[in-house]
Amino acid sequence: MDYYSKQISKLIEELSSLPGIGSKSAQRLAYSIISRPEEDVERFANALLSAKRDIHYCPCCQNLTEMELCSVCADEERDHSLICVVESPKDVTALERTGEYTGVYHVLHGLISPIDGITPDKLRIRELLARLQDGKVREVIMATNPDTEGEATAKYLARLLRPFGVKVTRLAYGIPV
Ligand code: ZN
Repeated sequence: MDYYSKQISKLIEELSSLPGIGSKSAQRLAYSIISRPEEDVERFANALLSAKRDIHYCPCCQNLTEMELCSVCADEERDHSLICVVESPKDVTALERTGEYTGVYHVLHGLISPIDGITPDKLRIRELLARLQDGKVREVIMATNPDTEGEATAKYLARLLRPFGVKVTRLAYGIPV
């Protein structure tokens, strides 16, 4: 392919590594990209990079987000003194769908299950306790599943939270607050 410039060859090579893009399409795309204004190409490249940027845990609630702080934690309209503790990110989605909960969340990323080797240190419990340090949280709702692990986790956390003097309530999973 030395009838192409090195950069075009490289670009075609990269594009044709994408699924469904043969060398003809890659060539067409490469020429299309090159013919665009630089700022368009820059925007395109940035879109690729930011899409690829790893989704991470929200440093506050531990939910998955691509933002620095997730949209719930960043929302000043929400009641940040009310934390709903859930097992996984999908529980946040389910509760958000009801549109009735106005507090914030804390995602444990699992439930205590000694049989499966899931001990409390494997869950995001330390991060929950850290959120209670400043005394601004007045209530923690345990919204884990009403099964054995969910109950055990809720009980374990309730005991752990006692010294913080926050109100701890139990919510069977799926029932809107
Ligand atoms: Zn968050």
